[in-house]
Amino acid sequence: LTQLFRPLDMLGMVYRTIRQGLIDMAAMFKLMDEPQEVADAPGAPALVIRQPAVVFDNVTFGYDPDRTILHGLTLEIAAGSKVAIVGPSGAGKSTIARLLFRFYDPQGGRILIDGQDIRLVTQISLRAALGIVPQDSVLFNDTIGYNIAYGRDGADLSDVEAAARAAALMPLIERLPKGFETEVGERGLKLSGGEKQRVAIARTLVKNPPIVLFDEATSALDTRTEQDILSTMRGLAEQRTTISIAHRLSTIADSDRIFVLDQGRLVESGGHLELLRRDGLYAEMWNRQAAEQGDLSEAAE
Ligand code: ATP
Repeated sequence: LTQLFRPLDMLGMVYRTIRQGLIDMAAMFKLMDEPQEVADAPGAPALVIRQPAVVFDNVTFGYDPDRTILHGLTLEIAAGSKVAIVGPSGAGKSTIARLLFRFYDPQGGRILIDGQDIRLVTQISLRAALGIVPQDSVLFNDTIGYNIAYGRDGADLSDVEAAARAAALMPLIERLPKGFETEVGERGLKLSGGEKQRVAIARTLVKNPPIVLFDEATSALDTRTEQDILSTMRGLAEQRTTISIAHRLSTIADSDRIFVLDQGRLVESGGHLELLRRDGLYAEMWNRQAAEQGDLSEAAE
């Protein structure tokens, strides 16, 4: 992937931003073989964010004309809130993320960030406002410092250090003889899933976007690492709007609001306790996962 975009280096910062967007999104959505279907509107202005609120306003979308995936979906995500999108497999969770990044345009309705229709602003400004912590982070065959600094052009060592500290990467870096200069990736040090995710979190901290999307950021991790990463993510979430796409409900129970999707429709939304009391789809998913966890801990004993 890096080879593919290497020639763009010469063209400077704009392409660097696009490249990062592509690589992060490719990692998140595994979308490299999908066509880019959208273009900037002529004379489109940049997205300007004062309050990073996100609204899906009656959005209807299908990848193919004969199959609607999202059916008039309305989601209101308050600026600075921490929300989660949950639901059974195929409910449309990743589709929502793809639409927010404007990989596709909806066939009906609008998506607004701070009141601006994302179809009417430049894609580069849209993607600069969005951070991703993907499930499988892509690391470059370069130093760990480079991999963190990559979040923003012009990031210096103090930015990288601050981000690494906040992402709880310092214990690892201090153990390495070459510190931030250690080569990672295929040709260098192999990092564990949790360490890679911390690099992704640090990279996002350096980028400092007002809106962050977590793609089931903890799925590949054991429970203890998951708890550690969760507390790191809480730091990342401060002052930002964060949207988590989650399978494991234990990771998102403290969200300000949880949107429960089923077959492309919003079927419930609210806080964790409120949704448990409702005794609907969320409660059913929660109880099932709790039972599975019980089985797992019994099996471990
Ligand atoms: P999971 O929890 O399994 O990741 P999800 O809720 O994220 O699922 P989506 O990936 O948004 O679900 O998929 C919603 C529906 O859209 C599914 O039926 C899926 O088959 C379909 N779909 C997803 N991507 C494409 C695509 N590129 N082209 C056509 N259909 C797609």
